[in-house]
Amino acid sequence: MHIAVLPGDGIGQEIMVEALRVLEALALPGMQLSHADVGGVAYHKHGHPLPSETVVLAKSADAVLFGAVGDPSCDNLERHLRPEQAVLGLRKEMQTFANLRPAKMFPGMEDASGLKPEIARTIDIVIVRELNGDVYFGQKGMRKTADGLREGYDIMSYDESEVRRIAHVAFKTAMGRGRRLCSVDKANVLETSQLWRDVMVETSADYPEVELSHMYVDNAAMQLVRNPGQFDVVVTGNLFGDILSDQASMCVGSIGLLASASLGEGTKGLYEPIHGSAPDIAGQGIANPSAMILSVAMMLRHSFGMETEAVRTEAAVAAVLAKGVLGHDLGGNASTTEIGDAIVAELS
Ligand code: NAD
Repeated sequence: MHIAVLPGDGIGQEIMVEALRVLEALALPGMQLSHADVGGVAYHKHGHPLPSETVVLAKSADAVLFGAVGDPSCDNLERHLRPEQAVLGLRKEMQTFANLRPAKMFPGMEDASGLKPEIARTIDIVIVRELNGDVYFGQKGMRKTADGLREGYDIMSYDESEVRRIAHVAFKTAMGRGRRLCSVDKANVLETSQLWRDVMVETSADYPEVELSHMYVDNAAMQLVRNPGQFDVVVTGNLFGDILSDQASMCVGSIGLLASASLGEGTKGLYEPIHGSAPDIAGQGIANPSAMILSVAMMLRHSFGMETEAVRTEAAVAAVLAKGVLGHDLGGNASTTEIGDAIVAELS
């Protein structure tokens, strides 16, 4: 088990310390950790947010644990040198095209949700977001219109192979859960979405046990807060998935509780919390490390097939929350280290 450890910027550094303590507490045999710089830290040290050594390490490892990137001191750099480009570059280099983002209500955390407790209690969703295509990777630029006005453009496109491969991931995810898959698109106005919907329907023939439904993204945003319990697995494109998964995070109480896995064709993956480097609280020792630790659990499950250890880790996080050891994001005052201590204590 060779794991590349890339803490990145801001709170990424702080939460990674706790994730590594959890890995140590699990005492897994045959684990090898290799560390590398990424993001603003890498730019300042090596002149690039994604140095080639980091790419080589990430590609040779069995899994990548990623903290977060983003550094305000880099905000005025050219776009390709900004820290955020590192995570996009890594996902591309590793050919991870499927982003799994579970959003599940932890018992006792209902009051932290923006939703009414009786609605929040029902949340148990996995959002499967396509990661390598859509408007983020289409042709983009600035030009002048015939009237001399400045015009920005970003082209949204998917080809059918890109949709088909994410569809298979989503159907397989649904097979391992409640066997209900909701595909979210905007097929009433977008051609890209019409193709998306057609390919979802075609792929469903391979998974007759899964009930496939479709929803327009505007309705999905509404249903996610009105009746989130109706969703089991949601599959959607890069742009819609980006937005809906952040919305889902607030439904479960805090962005500090949501982990993610970026997967490709094999077992290799990149595991990271869904939040960023949080410069507003970086260095204060108050970041919630739970999302990072839950990302470790996802790594154990998806890359190493260690379901028992994954469940143990998730149970330890849940137990600590239930005991009321809460960070400031959840209305408590436990520090990053105190939350890490409590999770490690649960594990041992
Ligand atoms: P953010 O997720 O970093 O923070 C949003 C808010 O949530 C902040 O108030 C922050 O304090 C809080 N927060 C986030 N994680 C927390 C945690 N674990 N515990 C407690 N509170 C937490 O988003 P942002 O402020 O919009 O972006 C900051 C930087 O991160 C930017 O440079 C952005 O581009 C970058 N970013 C990186 C990633 C990534 O690395 N994958 C993702 C999102 C944003």
